[in-house]
Amino acid sequence: MTPYGSLRTHGAGILRRQDDGERVTLAGWVATRRDHGGKAFFDLRDRSGVVQVVAESDEALDTVHRLRSEYVVRVTGAVRVRPEGMTNDALDTGEVEVAAGDVEILSSSLTPPFPLEDRVDADETMRLQYRYLDIRRPSVARVMRIRSQVTGVIRRVMEANGFLDIETPLLTRSTPEGARDFLVPSRLQPGSFYALPQSPQLFKQLLMVAGMERYYQIARCFRDEDLRADRQPEFTQLDVEASFITEEDIYSLHEELMATLWREVLEVELALPFPRLRFDEAMRRYGSDKPDTRFDMELVELGEVFADTEVGVFKGALHAGGSVIALCLPQGGSSTRKQFDEWVEFAKRRGARGLAWGVVESPTDPSGQEGRGSLRSPLSKFMRPEEIAGVLSATGARPGDAVFFGAGTTRPTQELMGAVRVAMAERHGLIPDSLWNFVWITDWPMFEWNDDDKRWDAMHHPFTAPATQWLDRLEDAPGEATARAYDLALNGTELGGGSIRIHQRDVQERVFTLLGIDEDEAREKFGFLLDGLSYGAPPHGGIAFGLDRLVMLMAGGQSLRDVIPFPKTQSGADPLTAAPAPVDDDQLAAVGLRTLPPSAKG
Ligand code: ASP
Repeated sequence: MTPYGSLRTHGAGILRRQDDGERVTLAGWVATRRDHGGKAFFDLRDRSGVVQVVAESDEALDTVHRLRSEYVVRVTGAVRVRPEGMTNDALDTGEVEVAAGDVEILSSSLTPPFPLEDRVDADETMRLQYRYLDIRRPSVARVMRIRSQVTGVIRRVMEANGFLDIETPLLTRSTPEGARDFLVPSRLQPGSFYALPQSPQLFKQLLMVAGMERYYQIARCFRDEDLRADRQPEFTQLDVEASFITEEDIYSLHEELMATLWREVLEVELALPFPRLRFDEAMRRYGSDKPDTRFDMELVELGEVFADTEVGVFKGALHAGGSVIALCLPQGGSSTRKQFDEWVEFAKRRGARGLAWGVVESPTDPSGQEGRGSLRSPLSKFMRPEEIAGVLSATGARPGDAVFFGAGTTRPTQELMGAVRVAMAERHGLIPDSLWNFVWITDWPMFEWNDDDKRWDAMHHPFTAPATQWLDRLEDAPGEATARAYDLALNGTELGGGSIRIHQRDVQERVFTLLGIDEDEAREKFGFLLDGLSYGAPPHGGIAFGLDRLVMLMAGGQSLRDVIPFPKTQSGADPLTAAPAPVDDDQLAAVGLRTLPPSAKG
């Protein structure tokens, strides 16, 4: 195939000064048209960019006068350098224009419902309804190109490392990734349902049992979640699994992958290897399992400082086995009372009882507390001088800084202070936006206690192997056991996660038991996996990365919807096709279903 197709010779966006005099045939869309000094111009846009066309013959002039936005045209003419003073710096092709003797209309267009410009404030539902027009906007087209480049690099790196691209079914059984399944009724077995995969997890493990050794797939996954914030019911992940490996193989492969992506797509050299943080440490220092390490403001535990305190909330938290955690906001002392109150509200919205704060002031006595200062706070009258000194020395806070305190059960307090840390840094512009800070989070807990259901849940998923030292004594202290699980975070966002898996049937059965899945249920739901593990399963592990999120971060998009060709809205609808939509009673009857009136739904 010719580079631009047989109907044309060049792309509009590639023409430059050195093409002066070249005869070209272009085809594309009319971006804008204008008459100027008796001449008729228009900008012709195709996927490669935009170039100015000027009518050179009477015939061409006639046709150009009939053009409207988004007509499809084909023009033939000569490239020429624009006269001095007429160049357009905003265009890559701004030094040239095409003098067209021949302009042919290939297709006409209605007036688009919104202008197809990069800066468009049209309502998103409208843009999604006309997504084929929205994608014509150069900024959206650019994202589609980046996305294709990203998948291209992924395939190349994976193939070079011996991975095979293997498809897994979309009509399948439930895979437990913690979300609700999308169900597809079976016509041939009325009353039975397929589930769309939440991930290819069990199939990729079975491919390891099958001896495929290295698998990858750019896989579509489905999770029927309430669409809070930025979620999509269907999304794409890079799914990977390999046999005879350890965590180190996963780290080095994906460091190579990220470095290649950043080099080839963004022309950025990443520093390798990526730093690693144990889960515990990430929670302790950043209050997050996907810490943003582009700025400091680390959390500080004050359990020792307040060990004998009379400050009621701190005392209560520590006596109950919880924590008092502080955070220093540099120069935060100049905040107004209202601003402090807003942070207290922020904490309360996140379910905390409150957030204490103090402002570090210069000591009135210059010899006092090594010149560090004192603390002006609603709580300071309850704090002993040595406690204040302890706070200042543990947090490193200087006069003019503000210190915030959270107190309560350790994990939720860490999470609260982690959220406060990020929100404050954002509000005060403390996050450098030129950094790409990747970090592996390792040594995750195996289980977390589900207080509602009074049972253990798998922190990653039930197929994750416990750390070797826990293999024999998992049952002794499930809450303390660590897993061979890892996540990769980038600038405070989770890019992906995975684990070394359980490859012995008896261990898998023990983990099911610990999770409260009895033998019958395990057989019912995962019998095929347990069977597979009984026929020579190699040690194996893998990972999955959210492709949409990866592209979003690389392309500088604001939302996943920006980087998905045909996304759903926040309410899970597709304004283009008007899906989801009711179906005929006949269609329902064929799969043995009848709908209930909305009020009757559980
Ligand atoms: N199946 C996991 C997920 O989709 C990833 C993995 O463990 O490989 O999040």
